[in-house]
Amino acid sequence: MSRRGWWIYGTAITIAAAAYLYAPENGGWARGLQLAPDFVMTGAMLVGLRFVPARDRAPWFCFVLALVATAMATLSTVVGLDWVPGDLPDVADLLYLAFYPIVAAGLVLMVRQSQRRIDWAAVVDAFTVTAGIGLLAWSYAIAPSLRDDSTSMTSRLVAAAYPVADLLLLAMTIVLVRSNGREGRRAPTLVAIAIGGYLAGDCAWVLLRNLNDGWADIAWVNRAINVEYQLSLLVLTLAILWPQVRGDGGGAGSVSHLSRPQLAGLTLAMLMSPALLITQELTDGIVDGLAIGIGSAIMFLLVMVRFTQLLRQSERQAQLVRELSRRDELTGLPNRRVWGEEFPAFLRRAAADRVPVAVCMIDLDHFKAFNDTYGHPAGDRLLQTAARAWEQELRAYDLLARYGGEEFILLLTGSAIEDAMGVVDRLRDVTPLDQTFSAGMAVWDYEETSDDLVARADVALYAAKAGGRNRTCLAEEPLRTAQN
Ligand code: GH3
Ligand code: MG
Ligand code: MG
Repeated sequence: MSRRGWWIYGTAITIAAAAYLYAPENGGWARGLQLAPDFVMTGAMLVGLRFVPARDRAPWFCFVLALVATAMATLSTVVGLDWVPGDLPDVADLLYLAFYPIVAAGLVLMVRQSQRRIDWAAVVDAFTVTAGIGLLAWSYAIAPSLRDDSTSMTSRLVAAAYPVADLLLLAMTIVLVRSNGREGRRAPTLVAIAIGGYLAGDCAWVLLRNLNDGWADIAWVNRAINVEYQLSLLVLTLAILWPQVRGDGGGAGSVSHLSRPQLAGLTLAMLMSPALLITQELTDGIVDGLAIGIGSAIMFLLVMVRFTQLLRQSERQAQLVRELSRRDELTGLPNRRVWGEEFPAFLRRAAADRVPVAVCMIDLDHFKAFNDTYGHPAGDRLLQTAARAWEQELRAYDLLARYGGEEFILLLTGSAIEDAMGVVDRLRDVTPLDQTFSAGMAVWDYEETSDDLVARADVALYAAKAGGRNRTCLAEEPLRTAQN
């Protein structure tokens, strides 16, 4: 649909709704203006369904169905269908009530479209807010309806079913809003506004009934609320007709983010139960003690669930950061930071156990020339494949780390010097692309510092380079101050 058509349609329905507000009671005008928009909107919804790509159609199909139910309900109210025998709920109520689960199903489908995985954080938040508002609904709408012994059991149940259905829709709408992310896509945003508007209409009814039963029967109040419902449904149809609804159905919202208003909403919802308790205590005495107790318990549990989720999430992130900071990006080997942090402690333990320790510095030969000949990316690949090949040759208790550039450091424990040299020879054999390296090996004397040990290995490496490369040199024994 063109943007202009969209505006014309929206304006026409709004004008019809406004006209209904002022239509004379007698004659067909009021009825016609109450009925026509519902049917036009249902038609518009059916037209709009064609604009939606087939794979995104499911939620919209539910919304069309819900609109059909509403239009039929309005029809049966306007023509005064009153043929239901005995104590059964009348047709209009059943049709109006059908709206809620159908729309809820549509909302679930819409959330599933924008997310591959269920965002449990959003679900928990939605239920927390709903529990808070549910407590209010219980106290001001559901319980009073059930207690009202001036009507039949059926009408009590029907009256109580509306707020329950409202809560269901509220929970699903919150999940939708959360799953739509911060840079929300247009269609789900409009849907959320529409459902929010519809729920506001229901709230208005409850409020009016609570304030003064007579008000809800005043004709223009009645009409105003009807118009409010209609305009909400208009927004729903505008959502499907939105010119860009095509291709607006696939993107994923950012999940799990809790904005300031959302946080405020959660806090408010949780304050509902103490507020209700205090209000009742200060007025007619506590009548909903049980409900408030149960509601509070549910909210506490939900908050604990959310708390646990957050804790797990931050633990996972901390773990990830720790791992990332310890890995060399290119080769995946432990990096120099790990070496610096752990090597001294390792030596202290080895000294206590008298485990033989040798350190070997490895430096690729003529690596600059390799880079110059084959390019830097090829040099990177050589570092990666060499690291992988060397790791395969190591024993479980050896440790290879990237020390910097094309320099690696190898920690060999528990073996005699001949075995340690053998390990380095094996590494030399598997170095890829016929490249060679020079190595300097130093055996620890159980006394010198980790820095001194590495420095000796480094000197030996220089000796290996100076001696013609592609070889391993053994470091000299550490210098001793004369002890006599
Ligand atoms: P020698 O045999 O004396 O060790 O010669 P060399 O060329 O290997 O040594 P030199 O220290 O002169 O050069 C090391 C080169 O390693 C220089 C630098 O461009 C290269 N290099 C260091 N880090 C990386 C890296 O991460 N990727 C690539 N592709 N090259 C690197
Ligand atoms: Mg070097
Ligand atoms: Mg080198």
